Amino acid sequence: MNPVALITGASRGIGRGIALELAELGYDLMLNFVRDARAAQAASRAALAIARQFGPPIRVVTCRADLSLATDRQSLIESTRATFGRLDLLVNNAGVAPSVRADILDATEESFDRLMAVNLKGPYFLTQLAAKWMIDQVRGHPGAAKAAAAHRAGGRARPVRPKIINIASISAYALSVNRGDYCIAKAGLSMVTALFAARLAAYGIHVYEIRPGVIATDMTRPVKAKYDRLIAGGLTPIARWGTPRDVGKAVAAIAQDLLPFSTGEVLNVDGGFHLRRL
Ligand code: NAP
Repeated sequence: MNPVALITGASRGIGRGIALELAELGYDLMLNFVRDARAAQAASRAALAIARQFGPPIRVVTCRADLSLATDRQSLIESTRATFGRLDLLVNNAGVAPSVRADILDATEESFDRLMAVNLKGPYFLTQLAAKWMIDQVRGHPGAAKAAAAHRAGGRARPVRPKIINIASISAYALSVNRGDYCIAKAGLSMVTALFAARLAAYGIHVYEIRPGVIATDMTRPVKAKYDRLIAGGLTPIARWGTPRDVGKAVAAIAQDLLPFSTGEVLNVDGGFHLRRL
């Protein structure tokens, strides 16, 4: 039986990059999107093609759900349960940028509410739903204790511990005064990581955060010229744009249980942006 991953916002950009890396590892995939069904279908076909190159078949299903809505979050979890019957990895990736970058002296409540709903409330309550299911799964799984013990002893049993990964951002700590709502939501998401890491560790469910830097996707397309200039000027020690697959590879490392004694851990996938230099 393949492990199962639910990836939010998997139709495009970073979510799609994560899907392709997990397909290579043999995960069955639930790919969430909200608007672009064609892109979601294309991501699904790409994941299936990659899996065919690398090993046994996987199943990939797409599911429309607006994560800012409680009913849609519930139905996304129910669809995942009905389709796959289990959940080994939740990746909270879906997110939006402000429609208009506005100085914090002028920014609107409307933009604030939208950013909070999609980028913070959505992943917080989706994690709550997924975590309860994962706890039941860990408690009820007859092989869980044995496999966990084999794992601790360095055996080769397949990991059974479910995991949760939040895709935050360098904006969790780096200030942009023209998109304060985005920064506040991402800083909040970092606290979500820490809270659930502490709450779920007793069940063997580990929670991680990935902080992408400047990644080439639809989200950053409108500011491409600005970041081209900044990167050429030395913004990041690794002087290039990041790719969705760069973020996907960090997810793959966690998915393979390569960080078994870490939870609440932050992985910077940012070309070294976070390093302080004189
Ligand atoms: P993107 O290319 O704009 O893709 C966004 C994805 O999220 C799409 O799949 C979109 O679905 C989905 N989505 C948007 N609103 C949603 C909602 N209400 N419910 C469900 N799905 C929703 O963005 P990206 O650059 O890949 O960003 C992905 C994540 O990485 C975001 O959380 C973003 O904040 C974070 N991040 C990005 C960068 C960067 O430089 N790009 C850097 C740091 C962090 P549809 O296709 O259906 O619209």
